[in-house]
Amino acid sequence: MNYPGASTIWLMISVFAVPAAAEIRLNPSNLTVVLDFRGERSVLATTEMRREVDRLIEDSGVRLDWRLRSEAPFVANDLVVITFRGSCQFGSSPPLYDEPGPLAFTWMADGEVQPFGEVDCERVVRSVRRAMWGADFGRANSLVGRALGRVVAHELVHMVTRSTHHSGEGLERPALSGRQLIAASLSLDAFDLERLRLSARRR
Ligand SMILES: [Zn+2]
Repeated sequence: MNYPGASTIWLMISVFAVPAAAEIRLNPSNLTVVLDFRGERSVLATTEMRREVDRLIEDSGVRLDWRLRSEAPFVANDLVVITFRGSCQFGSSPPLYDEPGPLAFTWMADGEVQPFGEVDCERVVRSVRRAMWGADFGRANSLVGRALGRVVAHELVHMVTRSTHHSGEGLERPALSGRQLIAASLSLDAFDLERLRLSARRR
């Protein structure tokens, strides 16, 4: 589903094999999330992002252990890796171009959802900027962090449930507008929360 003014979160069917990915066994009740920032980032936005993801899934029984890729080496049997492309912080001037495309996606290989996701930070920041007004600009990176958290949590639900399912309501909608990304509240639909709980219990 797509509609004017909305930014889309897509699942991408990868034509590339992801080495060893299928062998990584996820244990969603205690999951390590490795954050791989390829561009600039705001510490405030990163902190807010983690807080938002933890809040969104706290009732599912899934506990997250957050790591920066730069902190390696570390030991983790069950992990997912989120790669962040572009600048993940609010800039003083809007970008010159504004190409449509996904805010984030999760890799798939051989028909299986893989524990690897990518976030297009520039698209997320653009979407947030378009939705901001007034006092929002005084807490821009906090709102960027909230938006990043919602995008990351959306992809984590795909990874933990190993499902491409999208919902009509809540966080797992296939498209989230800038307003939905920074609104005071957004939560998982009850059905999606239950799917997440069941995935955590099964393992
Ligand atoms: Zn999705």
